[in-house]
Amino acid sequence: MIHQYKSNGYNIVLDVNSGAVHVVDDIVYDLIKIVEELLKNGAPDDSGYLAQAVADRKALSYTKEEIEEALEEILALKAEGILYAPDIYEKYIGDFKKRETVVKALCLHIAHDCNLACKYCFAEEGEYHGRRALMSFETGKKALDFLVANSGNRVNLEVDFFGGEPLMNWKVVKELVAYGRSLEEPNHKKFRFTLTTNGVLLNDEVMEFVNKEMSNVVLSIDGRKSTNDRMRPHRGGQGSYDEIVPKFQKLAASRDQMNYYVRGTFTRNNPDFSEDVAHLADLGFEQISVEPVVAKPEEEYALREEDLDKLFAEYD
Ligand code: SF4
Repeated sequence: MIHQYKSNGYNIVLDVNSGAVHVVDDIVYDLIKIVEELLKNGAPDDSGYLAQAVADRKALSYTKEEIEEALEEILALKAEGILYAPDIYEKYIGDFKKRETVVKALCLHIAHDCNLACKYCFAEEGEYHGRRALMSFETGKKALDFLVANSGNRVNLEVDFFGGEPLMNWKVVKELVAYGRSLEEPNHKKFRFTLTTNGVLLNDEVMEFVNKEMSNVVLSIDGRKSTNDRMRPHRGGQGSYDEIVPKFQKLAASRDQMNYYVRGTFTRNNPDFSEDVAHLADLGFEQISVEPVVAKPEEEYALREEDLDKLFAEYD
């Protein structure tokens, strides 16, 4: 199976089954899909035969010699097993679907409440269209028990403390981490805890605990102060940038710039979001992920079809 696309002046071909990625010239790019179809329909992998078949099928602006040369290259990649590679999983996929599944990860909504009022919040400022509520230790404990009981013989289990804002229920987070650790040895399990936070309540005590217990931390910030504060204000309207940046910098440095990432969302308000990525890098962050907003089309900040060319250019 072939997947091909052009980006930043490169012709890129992915041979899905072998996992090989090729950067090719225009003629090879144009011929690869045609040859794939011919081979599927039973054509022999002979460059002379294929050259004729290609010429018969499509009016290409290349000379016969150029086509033959490109076909030699294509067939050499095929012979190496890195182009048109067979799907070796096809005959097993039926059994794979029938396998007994296990639970290996939980995302715990530890707080349906939040101290920010982000405009794009899918959690409706943490409330998820319900009432404000914090998860009790008892409920979290049952969730961890459920995970262990349904994880089969899988050793490594993942639990993400998510919200709303999980630090609004910090005591229960700590209690659940301790409870999870107590389950490890008797059940032959290993918990990998992660935390997603907006940073407002981050302090030294939280950082110390996080560095001891959390395998990864996701720190929410959208980029430049203007970008962040427009979409991630407090309920009273004041921005969050100034208070969270120094704390995020401190936490990232204390983790040697590893096992964390700053996570931003871009919207129609900042179609030049590469500037926000660059700004986060200028702040010293080495692990950065900035992703498109998910929003109802009627929202003024929702991305639209007509924005795509600009957005693709930003990705490049
Ligand atoms: S910090 Fe997260 S949960 Fe809170 S309002 Fe912003 S997006 Fe929603």
